[in-house]
Amino acid sequence: MDIKEIPYLPERLSGLKELSTNLWWSWHPEARMLFKMLDRQVWKESRHNPVKVLKELPKKVFDSAASDKDYLRHYDIVLSRFHKEIKEDNKCLLLEGINERKIHSIAYFSAEYGLHHSLPFYAGGLGFLAGDFIKECSELKVPLIAVGFMYPEGYLKQQIREDGWQENIKQLLDRDASSIFRVLDENGNQLIVKVPLIEPPIHVAVWKIAVGMVSLYLMDTDIEINDPWNRGISARLYSGDIEQRLRQEIVLGIGGSEVLEKLGIKFSILHLNEGHAALALLENIRDKVQEGMNYSEASQYVKQTTVFTTHTPVTAGHDIFPFQMIEKYFNSYWPSLGLDRDSFLKLGVHPENPNAGFNMTAFALRMSEFRNGVSKKHGEVARKMWHSLWPELSEDKVPIDYITNGIHIPTWIEPKMKLLFNKYLGPDWTDDCDNPLIWELIDEIPNDELWKTHFWLKIKLINTIRERARQRWVNNRVSTSNILGMGTLLDPSVLTIGFARRFATYKRADLIFYDLERLKKLANDRWRPIQIIFAGKAHPADDPGKRILQRIYNFARDPGLSGRIAFVEDYEEQFAQYMVHGVDVWLNNPLPPMEASGTSGMKAALNGVPHLSIRDGWWLEGYNGENGWVFNHEESEGNEDQKDAEAIYQILEDNIIPLYYKYSDDGIPDDWVRIMKNSIKSNAAKFSTRRMVKEYINKFYIKELKVVQKA
Ligand SMILES: *Cc1c(COP(=O)(O)O)cnc(C)c1O
Repeated sequence: MDIKEIPYLPERLSGLKELSTNLWWSWHPEARMLFKMLDRQVWKESRHNPVKVLKELPKKVFDSAASDKDYLRHYDIVLSRFHKEIKEDNKCLLLEGINERKIHSIAYFSAEYGLHHSLPFYAGGLGFLAGDFIKECSELKVPLIAVGFMYPEGYLKQQIREDGWQENIKQLLDRDASSIFRVLDENGNQLIVKVPLIEPPIHVAVWKIAVGMVSLYLMDTDIEINDPWNRGISARLYSGDIEQRLRQEIVLGIGGSEVLEKLGIKFSILHLNEGHAALALLENIRDKVQEGMNYSEASQYVKQTTVFTTHTPVTAGHDIFPFQMIEKYFNSYWPSLGLDRDSFLKLGVHPENPNAGFNMTAFALRMSEFRNGVSKKHGEVARKMWHSLWPELSEDKVPIDYITNGIHIPTWIEPKMKLLFNKYLGPDWTDDCDNPLIWELIDEIPNDELWKTHFWLKIKLINTIRERARQRWVNNRVSTSNILGMGTLLDPSVLTIGFARRFATYKRADLIFYDLERLKKLANDRWRPIQIIFAGKAHPADDPGKRILQRIYNFARDPGLSGRIAFVEDYEEQFAQYMVHGVDVWLNNPLPPMEASGTSGMKAALNGVPHLSIRDGWWLEGYNGENGWVFNHEESEGNEDQKDAEAIYQILEDNIIPLYYKYSDDGIPDDWVRIMKNSIKSNAAKFSTRRMVKEYINKFYIKELKVVQKA
């Protein structure tokens, strides 16, 4: 791995360089503080990128820190903790007994990773799930290696035109000023790997990110040896062009496996995060065939050691490639498995629609023995959806289990809120964060302390929004109505609803505008108004999604709504943090049962922001009658926009608004704070990645390792 050129760093502070090369800093506020303390302004301007900070700061800043007792004390504590937690010989206690003979590691493949806002390798929830998953594996010392893409253009840098249409501002990641590193070959050049058996050839350059104990290898096709079409494969997430999309998946699954091979990394278990990564199965089978098994033995073995996690019931989320296209790329591949054309293509057939093409999800489900949806409800939905793959079984016996998603608590807890929890839960609560008992201590927090912390975070959110609007005004002379629509008139004393996520149409971002007059009444109430903050991106090829966004943007500028609706541009990890920490209520109103899980509501709930959601996804397991709200009590499926919108107004009018504005004599809304506390208490442990990763270990990994041991 190359080490970034840092012009100057005194010996006494040499650990800063080491720390900057491991994303461990990103979920430890005290480690972030080490960089921030050097120069707040540069830290902020770098978008919280420690490599950039170390590269840009002048010598005198480091020299003065190296002789500052306070700084050094802080530095020594952070570094010693870092070294203790990131030790090669750390063992995973959860795999003890089974993991003795040799290191059986797990190879995790995902098309996206949401790790930190300085690394734009994600589009939405799937990416954060993967990012939070590998952070948690690091903390639990699970021996895991991750594989993905280095997308220099990320997903999309969103800017909204004056007329409300979403545009993409092309912005390239500065690869050499980020926490990613070139993996070097024996000659000291960046390692380049050829994707095997694919014609015409595609090459990838290999990068690495250290995520605590986990190494994440990223592939980059933007290198000279590739022709221009190939160079663009990893330019950005989820190409809208179907053939380029297939080539992305070839690079991820087949190229990614080859990268591990070339690095000499052996693994025993394959974990595919969504169908994009499914082609990794082929390389695994080919390996076994090369070792002497026939196709059926090899595929059987690989099946017993593979986990496939499916993430969505939305049809467009399941890639289907025309058979001819698959033939074009794989005609020299199937002989290497000992298969002919027809038996190869059959692996991807969806029985309900056999002529549609090669279905990646059907393929992955067939070829893996351990399969799961991402919430209890989604498990049911997936069993129904894929029943035809197991026609001989009744629907409830379809072998797709579920493990409900979670969030990585140290990543999503706001630092000030964390200090408050430290005070009442004890300083080690993060080590035991999946234990529901410690969360009972939330009741010890005095109402006014929790409320004041929350209010401070709300002000911080609104200040951030106003500052962004100010910058657009100053830099781009955006018209005044747009500046107002960006949130300039938001008021911290008003009940604030947050809605931020990808603008996929099933999420129905504009549902609350269904009855505009009724919404106006709520927004313009003289004494008890509400305001709503929106943010989110539509996929660049999704015009219906962009039209919904435009509609909301226009409402935000509508004087009839008096500045109480805001649309904030370019939703990404950093702004997501502000939102889930700072609003009063987190709203979710997808079309059931399309929200497989949803995770942003978990992030909000952890920070004392109660969830208001339709019956879908994780909230079916989270809601307990006193930790937030659910609307539409009966199970409903299908398009019922009017009924759903009316249910939202009703619950706002009858429950949420009166409760929020009911202050006690000392100015604290005690009944509201009780709901905030219930939200934290009942959701934090249950929807943590700590609980989730342990479930993957107990339900899947341990069983698979037993297969490996027997082999
Ligand atoms: C958590 C998160 C998501 C996922 O949100 P959902 O509620 O699951 O849709 C998307 N984008 C960002 C930036 C996030 O932090």
